[in-house]
Amino acid sequence: MSTRHHLQPISAVILLLVLAISPSPSHSSTHNHEQVNLESNPISRFQNYLRINTAHPTPDYAAAVNYLTAFAATIPTLQTRTLYLTTPDKPLLLITWPGSNPSLPAVLFNSHLDSVPAEPSKWLHDPFAAHLSDDGKIYARGAQDDKCTGMQYLEAIKELKSNLDYTPLRTLHISYVPDEEVGGLDGMAKFVESKEFKELNIGFVLDEGQASVNDEFRVFYADRSPWKLVIKSAGVPGHGSRMYDNSAMENLMKSVEVIMKFRENSFDLVKAGQAANSEVISVNPVYMKAGIPSPSGFVMNMQPSEVEAGFDIRLPPTAEPEFMMRRIAEEWAPAWRNMTYQITEQGSLRDYLGRPLLTATNESNPWWSVFKQAITAAGGKLAKPEILSSTTDARFMRQMGIPTLGFSPMKNTPILLHDHNELLESSVYLEGIKVYEHIIRLLSSFDGASVSEGR
Ligand SMILES: [Zn+2]
Repeated sequence: MSTRHHLQPISAVILLLVLAISPSPSHSSTHNHEQVNLESNPISRFQNYLRINTAHPTPDYAAAVNYLTAFAATIPTLQTRTLYLTTPDKPLLLITWPGSNPSLPAVLFNSHLDSVPAEPSKWLHDPFAAHLSDDGKIYARGAQDDKCTGMQYLEAIKELKSNLDYTPLRTLHISYVPDEEVGGLDGMAKFVESKEFKELNIGFVLDEGQASVNDEFRVFYADRSPWKLVIKSAGVPGHGSRMYDNSAMENLMKSVEVIMKFRENSFDLVKAGQAANSEVISVNPVYMKAGIPSPSGFVMNMQPSEVEAGFDIRLPPTAEPEFMMRRIAEEWAPAWRNMTYQITEQGSLRDYLGRPLLTATNESNPWWSVFKQAITAAGGKLAKPEILSSTTDARFMRQMGIPTLGFSPMKNTPILLHDHNELLESSVYLEGIKVYEHIIRLLSSFDGASVSEGR
């Protein structure tokens, strides 16, 4: 029972409409509060959202919130609130669709307002013009990550409410948070700690996922946690011509050898197909600081007394944090080799009850079953659930023990997040709205009793 049979013609009609409009790259922006431009079709509305530059280091959050608020105002019964949990330049927009039984745990759909920067000279089209090519591709920073989902949530609700007069049983919330791309500390991290969040009584969250290059949708049940490790060694300085034991450099190089061997073992598992990239502990050297500077570079006949190196480590939620700590202390930076270390960032691997930071993707989690049914109802196929290699805001909800899946309905799409020429096919975008209609319908009408058990 596929909905795609009637979907394709609709997409084609909208695409023709859009092509007839032929937007120019110099399209007026929506930055001005008096000029929120809500055109009458989903593609134009998506383009207008993409044209609001929310790239770091100077994201225009106010314009984005203003635009989304104006769009939400066109949909009956939606309530909007802007929260300022840190500074006035970092708003968090919360849109609520009240359910008929507000005592049931609510469902949250999250997306972030910000994006990573773009280098316009490396792009085929201006990354903030949201250019629509003749073959239906929308080029824009944020097209995949993750302004698509942010707008699709609202478009799906618009369709369900305005055209089908659907009323949810459970209350539905959409959050638009700042600063995901810079760690989320002034965004989702603050939100989940707030009394406003607790009052929402969230039972299940959908957050961003990633594009799939084939016909199956990808879904993520965990993120890897980042640890940032700095190791230092000290030693007696000496003439460059002398060989002696325990120089700072020798001790650091021994550690680097041990760490690179560990990296090789992890990578071998991936290369042999025994584990996905995101299922192993990865470690990569990211900087080394050593040597005594001279006007022409470095002093060449002196062995330095202090050296330092930095490593980016990513751990899947199945890793044992205590074991990793011991490995670092005893093998990677042992005091007996005159080494010290600092873990400057240590992402959690456990939730507040000490359970691995992951969401179950089996029958023990009733939300998972409902989500899966919705994808089937939308005529879609799900790939095997994955751990995300990197990190998203989903970790903050999982930390609170709330089941959270990462999902962005983009199939047959190259993975271009954070890349030059980030793009999304307009037909894929429109199909995603249909997928969310099914998801919202099933999740919001789900009346399971023991939903607090699922995680
Ligand atoms: Zn993202």
